[in-house]
Amino acid sequence: MLSKTKTSKILSTLEDMYPLAECSLDFDDNHFHFLVRAILSAQCTDKRVNEVTRTLFDKYSTIAAFAEAEQEQLAQDIKTCGLYNAKSRNIINTSSILVEKYNGEVPVESEDLESLPGVGRKVANLIRGELFSIPAVVVDTHCMRVAKRLGFTDSNQPLRVEKDLASCIPKDKWITLGHRFVAHGRALCTARSPKCNSCALIEVCRHGRSQERKR
Ligand code: SF4
Repeated sequence: MLSKTKTSKILSTLEDMYPLAECSLDFDDNHFHFLVRAILSAQCTDKRVNEVTRTLFDKYSTIAAFAEAEQEQLAQDIKTCGLYNAKSRNIINTSSILVEKYNGEVPVESEDLESLPGVGRKVANLIRGELFSIPAVVVDTHCMRVAKRLGFTDSNQPLRVEKDLASCIPKDKWITLGHRFVAHGRALCTARSPKCNSCALIEVCRHGRSQERKR
């Protein structure tokens, strides 16, 4: 586990680097819309999801409309998001469950969220943080990579990474931390060839320092 000093240095540096980091999925004050966007975001960019859903919600204007949608037609409507057969089935089934079991509301409890088709731990945590302001660490591919390089974890298992981060990061930072890791993973700490020489975290980064020593 990283020391408190190092952890707080990393958090403050990330805050300086990405003061306005936030979720890049659109949010229009409609919980169900955000849930659909989150389901569509699996292995797809947020930008593409935002583009597709701008017209999707005109065509399917209610949860019931999604629940009653023709699966093949919905698959075509979301095709450019990838995995469209599975995603269309998940959206239809999730919509039906929301109507039948939750009175059309997106539930708040992790257990309820994770029981919905297409909603795993990552999406459930995203929903809890973004819609209900409940502290939750969202572990996506950027978060996994950046957390491991910085030395917060040695694991490649999302749940383990989440626990490792939660054990040393103050709870009130969990939501923004995820957004900052994503921003950093896109900007500098890229999967291939991270730009360590331009990174303000290099002095406190396990991976960055090891790369420096090799030179
Ligand atoms: S020093 Fe390199 S590996 Fe470490 S956080 Fe910065 S870009 Fe990523």
